[in-house]
Amino acid sequence: MTPNIDVTHDPALRSWVESANDGTTDFPIQNLPFGVFRHDFEERLRIGIAIGDQVLDCLAAARAGYFDALGPMIVDMLQSWSLNALMSLGREEARAVRGATSRLLRADTAEGTSAATKRDLLLVPMALAGMTVPAEIGDYTDFYASVFHASNVGALFRPDNPLLPNYKYVPIGYHGRASSIVASGTAVRRPFGQTRPADTAPPVFGPSKALDYELEIGAFICGANTLGDPVPIGRAEERLFGLCLLNDWSARDIQSWEYQPLGPFLSKNFATTVSPWIVTTDALAPFRAPAFVRPPGDPAPLGYLTDPNDADHGGFDITLEVLLRTARMREVGAPAVHISRGDFQSMYWTVAQMLAHHSSNGCNLRPGDLLGSGTVSGPEAGSRGCLLEMTRRGAEPLSLPSGETRTFLEDGDEVTFRGWCERDGAARIGFGECRGEIRPAN
Ligand code: CA
Repeated sequence: MTPNIDVTHDPALRSWVESANDGTTDFPIQNLPFGVFRHDFEERLRIGIAIGDQVLDCLAAARAGYFDALGPMIVDMLQSWSLNALMSLGREEARAVRGATSRLLRADTAEGTSAATKRDLLLVPMALAGMTVPAEIGDYTDFYASVFHASNVGALFRPDNPLLPNYKYVPIGYHGRASSIVASGTAVRRPFGQTRPADTAPPVFGPSKALDYELEIGAFICGANTLGDPVPIGRAEERLFGLCLLNDWSARDIQSWEYQPLGPFLSKNFATTVSPWIVTTDALAPFRAPAFVRPPGDPAPLGYLTDPNDADHGGFDITLEVLLRTARMREVGAPAVHISRGDFQSMYWTVAQMLAHHSSNGCNLRPGDLLGSGTVSGPEAGSRGCLLEMTRRGAEPLSLPSGETRTFLEDGDEVTFRGWCERDGAARIGFGECRGEIRPAN
């Protein structure tokens, strides 16, 4: 399947929602990401589509008849309080909704001309929309797909043996916790846990002293495979609803004591933050890229993880950024400071390979399931996706313009991720933000 570019990607499209046309918004009419929100003073959750600084209220648009051409089933699903029903269908249906929404929001169509007269009914200012986690996430799996992250972290924990022999064959992952996934803006409380500060003394229980973030991309699953039926690599893209930003908060001191032999547990499951907008796989079509080119000497992936289309188009050209704002910076009105940049093209495994591998034993992936990519780190010093790597496990503190230093996160620190896609011949689209502030331990 080559990336499907159609009229909805045309960079010349303009919306009757003026803020979508300014060239700087993350949400021009070429993007149209899905989210779930609650209107101010109202309880009912509803599906929304971001456009400029507004949210298209899908419930209102469906009730007004603007989606009727999609048929009663999709119209019904767009009035739901979660995206899972729409996700249960698949890419074709998501693409149909995207096409109808594009016509509805365009300045030069009959649907758009009609909708513009009903803007108070159809639009909610983003500033008044309370965003939630965009799907009912049944299962969450976190991968480890950056070879640069795996090598850097491996070198810190196992200097003699940084990259384990399975890494270049197996898309490594672990099953995470869905219940503690929160939407951007939710405060994150510093976790308590068991750590062993000195090898010669017994472990202690207390608040983590090495709290970290991990810059990741999240992938939402659509459609379903029956338990026992793997998803072949050539069909994995059909199961990929879209992507978001994801922060896999990590307590390194808890992690280093608990992770052997079964992997991370309480060091990771106290909170995971996602950005509220799911940028669909279709919106990302102009920004597809070849899969990571393995250096000479690396083994080829096994057959069940090999597909020519995935090799040619399995990557995504997404630029990521991490910003940090401390409590002191907030007090003096200083803006958040950029601390690193990530390139999602640098991942060793594609999302399709992760998805195919996950189901290769017959594991059933269900609509609304979430896959985390693993920390996005590149080869350069400015592209390390967590403080553990950036400060070399605290040995090289980060200096901030405020005069403060950081080895790990302090109470009051606010971490914000941004992500965007930019290419000649395409409209720039973005992911919004994934933000969380650390609160003191209880
Ligand atoms: Ca992770």
